[in-house]
Amino acid sequence: MSGLLYIVATPIGNLNDITFRAVETLKGAELVLAEDTRHSKKLFDHYEIKSPLRAFHEHNENEKVNGIISEIKSGKSVALISDAGTPLISDPGYKLVSEAKKTGITVVPIPGPNAAITALSSSGIASNSFTFFGFLPSKQTLRIKLLKTKRNLDETIIFYESPKRILATIRDMTDVFGRDRRVCLAKELTKSFETILTDNLPTLMDYLESDPSHQKGEFVILVSPPDKIDHEFAENELEKILPILCDEMGASKAAKLASKITGLDKKYCYKRAISL
Ligand code: SAM
Repeated sequence: MSGLLYIVATPIGNLNDITFRAVETLKGAELVLAEDTRHSKKLFDHYEIKSPLRAFHEHNENEKVNGIISEIKSGKSVALISDAGTPLISDPGYKLVSEAKKTGITVVPIPGPNAAITALSSSGIASNSFTFFGFLPSKQTLRIKLLKTKRNLDETIIFYESPKRILATIRDMTDVFGRDRRVCLAKELTKSFETILTDNLPTLMDYLESDPSHQKGEFVILVSPPDKIDHEFAENELEKILPILCDEMGASKAAKLASKITGLDKKYCYKRAISL
């Protein structure tokens, strides 16, 4: 009989942020796949988890997947964890889970911490509708290009950022989104120096520049939707995307999506869609 694949969320800083079920699952697993086994050993020692750990990271995921699938098929119960938070969220595991699903293995999620959701819940930024983008490109030209495509998005956008680029990214966001956009900088969540600041971009820039220690640590950036949209930019976007969307779906659905992406009125997008 096939074993199961458990996807187990672990803390994003504070070791107490783990569920009873996660600890039980890790204790019961016959094999635990971890990004960095030395890092996870600290969590294992803290909770007296003795299950064997094996390295599974972005550099060996492709070559390891088939072997792990065979082990699960032959009856082994396997758990996947990452260095922090929920596996697969800007972390390895997608290939493994997708292959497991294809081969009929039952995948069991053990939910828990995630930096993006933790930040969103305490940011004061609109939480009704949001898009998670993970890490921004490290090259400035690509980063600015990507940010420009999100300028009029009518929902909260969430990014992860490394301390190396936090200053450059906030500077680029000021250029692209303008000085008035409300943004939350959520730093070192659940750790001793946890800081959750929601303000305009120049104020966040001042905070980062006022002390080099403010640029250290792990960051989530949440950008609120714009109060008013840049019409010229939105029109150009609409002209680009509407024909593509209309090729793939009906005018009503295309207009709804185009309105969400450009921030333009839904009825206006529909009128444009049916006149193509
Ligand atoms: N899988 C993780 C999750 O569920 O959130 C994310 C892993 S990703 C490789 C690491 C990035 O997540 C960091 O660079 C940072 O942007 C964000 N992050 C992780 N822990 C964090 C924390 N305690 N405070 C703020 N951001 C954090």
